[in-house]
Amino acid sequence: NGIQLENLVRLSKIGAGNSGTVVKTLHVPDSRIIAKKTIPVENKEVLKNQLVRELTIMKNVSAHDNIVGFYGAFYNPSTTNEIVILMEYMDCGSLDKILSVYRSDCHRKNVSISCKTSWFNEMPLSRISFCVLNGLIYLYDCYKIIHRDIKPSNILINSKGDVKICDFGVSTTLINSLADTFVGTSTYMSPERIQGGRYTTKGDVWSLGLMIIELSSGEFPLGGHHDTPEGILDLLQRIVNEPAPKLSKNEHYSIEMTDFVNRCCIKEERGRSSLKELICHDFICKYNNRDTIAKEFRHWCKKVKKRIKEDKMIRREETERSKI
Ligand code: ADP
Ligand code: MG
Repeated sequence: NGIQLENLVRLSKIGAGNSGTVVKTLHVPDSRIIAKKTIPVENKEVLKNQLVRELTIMKNVSAHDNIVGFYGAFYNPSTTNEIVILMEYMDCGSLDKILSVYRSDCHRKNVSISCKTSWFNEMPLSRISFCVLNGLIYLYDCYKIIHRDIKPSNILINSKGDVKICDFGVSTTLINSLADTFVGTSTYMSPERIQGGRYTTKGDVWSLGLMIIELSSGEFPLGGHHDTPEGILDLLQRIVNEPAPKLSKNEHYSIEMTDFVNRCCIKEERGRSSLKELICHDFICKYNNRDTIAKEFRHWCKKVKKRIKEDKMIRREETERSKI
């Protein structure tokens, strides 16, 4: 099932982030939609060969329900300073995109983001947490891989009801070639990581906790997102110095969910719960032991996909109108 780059036709740009650009493409021979990620790298033959070799183990690693499918890594001979990664296209996009569509929806309807009827109520959050934990446990148990970059844009959803993680640290060469730049800095990093400590799976647990707070409240904890380097450094300082973030006191968060988040967001790494402790937590079991959960969550995903489409149409109309 080898895919050749020349059989891909560009459809549209999906997004760009710290490490590269992602484009939606059509694989003409079998009409499959594929996500194509391009990462700029130093133009050194040895480096690029090394990268492609390391990324190739992704073929085996990605054979899991909660890991995004991988179709191959190349370095593009025509544009020498980049590598290309082909992966499964996820039609509901990433959690940050879904959150921003939900935010616009609330804004238009003039309702609060953390209301009782929030898209990100407990059922989807419990399902998403279960899938992320399940994927992380698999990566570590089978390959000793630590994700290192858990954040909403690296959690992908499709309308079949799958939740899959992507962009984890498979390649030390890639990690090292990105590490020297500001690119390696993320506000989802744990306090020990910000302070230059080593990375363990507990670092990913911290990131998961922050992500749940952000999705349920609509805001990044500890004073929001900052796009300037100074703003980010300031936020990182606060993560290290201030008390751990918490779910805001709100009567509609259950005891289970509040406790789950508290156990993820313990600043001291040793006190923080492990992946395996968390996957057995009541907040996970409460929903994921129901035999109807897969169906309920699939329904949620379908609804989300519909809303994303509607949002796109509304935006298009708005820009059309602003031209007149
Ligand atoms: P970042 O994760 O830092 O935002 P990336 O370059 O990894 O940057 O991804 C850019 C965007 O592309 C992501 O925010 C996500 O919304 C989207 N994306 C990435 N991979 C896929 C995929 N396989 N299917 C659908 N959307 C994707
Ligand atoms: Mg990413």
